[in-house]
Amino acid sequence: MNSKPARNFKLMLLSFYFLAIGFSLNAQNTVIKAGHLFNSRTGEFVSNQMIIVKDGKILETGTNLKYSSSDKVIDLSKSWVMPGLIDCHVHITANYPYRNVSFNHSYTTESSALRALQGAFVAKQLLEGGFTTIKEIGNDANYATADVIKAIKKGWAQGPDIIYAGKIIAPYGGQTSGINIENEHLWQFEYIDADNPDEIKKAVRKNIYYGADVIKLVTGDNGIYNEDDIKAAVDEAKKSGIKVTVHALGGEAARNVIMGGAAAIEHGFYLDDELMRLMKEKGTFLVGTDFSFDNWYSYGMDSSQAKSLERVIVDRLKRAYKIGTKMAFGTDIIIDIPGLNRLQTNLKVLQTWKAAAIPSSYILQTMTIYAAELLGADKKIGVLEPSYLADIIAVDKNPLENIDAVKDVRFVMKKGQIIKQPGSNL
Ligand SMILES: [Zn+2]
Repeated sequence: MNSKPARNFKLMLLSFYFLAIGFSLNAQNTVIKAGHLFNSRTGEFVSNQMIIVKDGKILETGTNLKYSSSDKVIDLSKSWVMPGLIDCHVHITANYPYRNVSFNHSYTTESSALRALQGAFVAKQLLEGGFTTIKEIGNDANYATADVIKAIKKGWAQGPDIIYAGKIIAPYGGQTSGINIENEHLWQFEYIDADNPDEIKKAVRKNIYYGADVIKLVTGDNGIYNEDDIKAAVDEAKKSGIKVTVHALGGEAARNVIMGGAAAIEHGFYLDDELMRLMKEKGTFLVGTDFSFDNWYSYGMDSSQAKSLERVIVDRLKRAYKIGTKMAFGTDIIIDIPGLNRLQTNLKVLQTWKAAAIPSSYILQTMTIYAAELLGADKKIGVLEPSYLADIIAVDKNPLENIDAVKDVRFVMKKGQIIKQPGSNL
């Protein structure tokens, strides 16, 4: 072993080793000077902080941190800096005509390819608006979002990290009604029929095969899943380490979701206090998709219907907050309001949160740390602390004074990469 070639080889290895150390010492970190930094654990901003970013992650946060003169410094000393935002209920590949929704028409006229292109367009818009993670919750044609995710991974498209549900699993008929027998199964463009625990388990496995990392069920539209049905989905998903979330409005359907062990109820517009207390007890999240008047109106309702539905949501939000049901932010927009893009239409829901007088600090927590907890990603995102991903955004005004400040995100960093910064024309 001590022959000359072996010694030379060892020397060569050693020199590579020191070369590598030299490179890592000289590697450029990014230093962000944050005038106000959001602590999503406490819901408060802390002044005059610094964040050091290395290899896409946060290395250090604090005051007066030492850094190298070769590091890249980003001055956000006049800004409010926060973790990247998270939307737990989006449909990036769906866009229906204003006040003229026809799901069946879109199934027959829009291919999955077209829907994927729309998804890539919206994904970029959401990322540039500060949403660095989204939960894409179905109604995405024939797994169109799976291709959007692949395109983002290949670098062909830019978008948030996407937690993906695949096709929605529902009792026979999906969320359609009135389809004639000649067009039976038309809905399978977007839904998987599953009417007992075995069918549900098979549907879960199919979604996982095509890329799902969360499972979405619908109950209460064409029949109600019982507790065992929900449990079958939860157990099957658990084998792959993923969670189940369920569209349910209230009543028995919602009770079965909670008792069956699902991670969240989507919508829950008609949840009574007793069910929301049960959710609190079981740790079930509410993703409230809190439509404002304008969002309801875009579905084609008249003003009085839209107004009364907005009132229902405001009341449910108030009660959920008072009871202490866990909440994660979700928007659920599939129709853009004229003159507004998808990001702006999504954020119309903040109007409802404001009408319910929910504190801005709590709203920000539902968009960061609580959403991360629901997604099972709370060791990675939602908080700006060492070892977390460098998903960082900044706004010019104090969002605690008015949550609308998050509608104008000026700086976006995704895993250490700058997506948008002050002065850019995005
Ligand atoms: Zn939805």
